[in-house]
Amino acid sequence: MSMTENMTNKLVSVNNEWDIPEVYCGTPVSRLILYHNLNLPSNRYKRAEILTLMCMDNRQSLRLPGNFSFIVRNAGGTLNGVSFSVSFAVAVAGIRHIAVIGHSDCMMVNLGSRKAEFVRGLSEDSGWDKAAAESHFLDSCVLFNKEDVVSSVISEAELIRSQHAGIVVAPMLYSVEDDLLYLIEEN
Ligand SMILES: [Zn+2]
Repeated sequence: MSMTENMTNKLVSVNNEWDIPEVYCGTPVSRLILYHNLNLPSNRYKRAEILTLMCMDNRQSLRLPGNFSFIVRNAGGTLNGVSFSVSFAVAVAGIRHIAVIGHSDCMMVNLGSRKAEFVRGLSEDSGWDKAAAESHFLDSCVLFNKEDVVSSVISEAELIRSQHAGIVVAPMLYSVEDDLLYLIEEN
């Protein structure tokens, strides 16, 4: 897998339940990974057990039972523009577990390099004024740019923990190369 240069935080492969770190054993975090990676059969859940925050990238498709997870997606899978969605699921739907899932080959990494392409696309295809398209890009780039997917997922997980005491937040990575989820082991 060529997904990250980050060597300080380890990716944990999950091929069976024994690979799940103790902190997540028996929790919806563990079930989410096992359902997806092992394609386990399951009945439809009565209510959601977890919220998944992930990038909108079309190459990711989670194999999960019906009703099991709220799924919040945006460019990059961060809280940008969706923090109310997360708070709502915690406050009103009783969500106590959150999976933050980054992925390999994310277009939000080194986002600044896409400015010319973005401005050209919006002006030529959507009729935007070039200066407005450029401001839109630059304003958003500050929020959405990532230098490294693994570090970004970890800082997002830390941010959610700081906003929601007592919620278990698990950082993960979706590999678009093998369609599997990996846990990110934090130091
Ligand atoms: Zn992405």
